[in-house]
Amino acid sequence: MQVSIDQDRCCGSGQCVMAAPDVFDQSEDDGLALLRPGRARQAARADLELAAALCPAGAITVHEGHGTVPGDADGTGAVGA
Ligand code: SF4
Repeated sequence: MQVSIDQDRCCGSGQCVMAAPDVFDQSEDDGLALLRPGRARQAARADLELAAALCPAGAITVHEGHGTVPGDADGTGAVGA
């Protein structure tokens, strides 16, 4: 599984961090969500889907498979981060 965060939509509520703290973090600068590098691929699908469902901004997208997410230039599964 892979996950992406649309940081233009993220409002820093932190629900994703509560749902899947091994995958999501929040910036100390602006509170916006960040992905912990390399964690999304190893995460339980249920945890990622819960985070996406709880996100009040609809900023999280869970992707099937193990390929590269479009825009994931560094291969971390983080898009727009
Ligand atoms: S739950 Fe959504 S809005 Fe809240 S910090 Fe995570 S990505 Fe941002």
